[in-house]
Amino acid sequence: MALLTKQIPRTLTALSRSSSFSGSGCLDHTVTRILEGLRNGQRASLAEAITLVETSHPKKKEQAKQLVSQVLHDARQRQYALGTKSFSFRLGLSGPPGAGKSTFIERFGKFLTSQGHKVAVLAVDPSSATTGGSLLGDKTRMPELTTDKNAYIRPSPSRGHLGGVTRSTNEAVVLCEAAGYDIVIVETVGVGQSEFSVADMVDMFTLLIPPGGGDELQGLKRGIMEMSDLIVVNKSDGDLVAAAHRMQYEYISALKYIRSRNKQWKAPVKRVSSVTGEGIEELWEILQKYRKTMENSGDFLSRRQTQQKSWMWTHLNENLMSVFMQTYGMKQILKERERQVMLGMISPGDAADSLLQEFLKTINQSK
Ligand code: GDP
Repeated sequence: MALLTKQIPRTLTALSRSSSFSGSGCLDHTVTRILEGLRNGQRASLAEAITLVETSHPKKKEQAKQLVSQVLHDARQRQYALGTKSFSFRLGLSGPPGAGKSTFIERFGKFLTSQGHKVAVLAVDPSSATTGGSLLGDKTRMPELTTDKNAYIRPSPSRGHLGGVTRSTNEAVVLCEAAGYDIVIVETVGVGQSEFSVADMVDMFTLLIPPGGGDELQGLKRGIMEMSDLIVVNKSDGDLVAAAHRMQYEYISALKYIRSRNKQWKAPVKRVSSVTGEGIEELWEILQKYRKTMENSGDFLSRRQTQQKSWMWTHLNENLMSVFMQTYGMKQILKERERQVMLGMISPGDAADSLLQEFLKTINQSK
């Protein structure tokens, strides 16, 4: 009981202490140093900042919160002065393994930096989150972009569940922006739920597909097409051109039966070759047109506001789970309920209800 009463207040106090920071006031030394580096666009500071938001160490978590609050505060100031012009462009990119995502990002990223942009690439890899393995691989996937001084590539955190990875990616996006990156690409593999998380944190969501026999289209989740603002058929070169054309038409007709995410924007289907570079420049024109359309209709800003809201929910879910798991005795009870559910001794719904009751009882006892 003594342990129990100590445990909960400590977790809850840590939460309340960290949420009391308002974006100003006395900053930790490390936070001040990293902020300075970010404001000067230093890549080493950006890397350090992202490592900080990925940590689970309590003191560093506290520093990460201060840093993100301050960065958001700065971003608000820029927004007051410049409106939506101060915003970067957040581009989500999803596609099955082998579609050519890294080849595409390398080609597109190099094109953007040659036009004077600063490009950050962040990865959300559901496989690395759950198994420590990787469907997206690491930095070596984009050798040229990696050495470009106007690009920053960050692989997915290799630990933690998808919720944690989503939360830290949300934070990494604003840190990249604070370091002066005006285009942030968030890449994920079209497996599991990760593309839904990514769609919630970007201004434009793009689906990249390889030309194929059409099976892909059938197998493709309808949901991912509904949330796509652009579909890119990659590998439209050499012997694959005819297949890429077929794929393009199939997608155009499939999209006729799908409600688009926005009234003012119907998702175009474009063919590119990441190897020859064909279609890449045209794609950039489409992205700019999209941004203009969305800005004029007010949807750009409202999507940003929705992004903030889902970011809050990600935090809340993560914090609730963390309090739940750290509450004395819950881990054992959880294990037991899991066992009972697997053996069919208790229904999953009843097990969840009983876990919540146990949790609330423990919290009440500790008061
Ligand atoms: P990812 O798993 O989606 O990141 O796919 P990769 O970028 O690793 O590409 C998978 C394979 O497709 C590699 O062998 C690439 O060389 C090839 N590839 C990627 N883009 C193109 C393209 O535009 N044309 C052709 N012909 N091959 C491509």
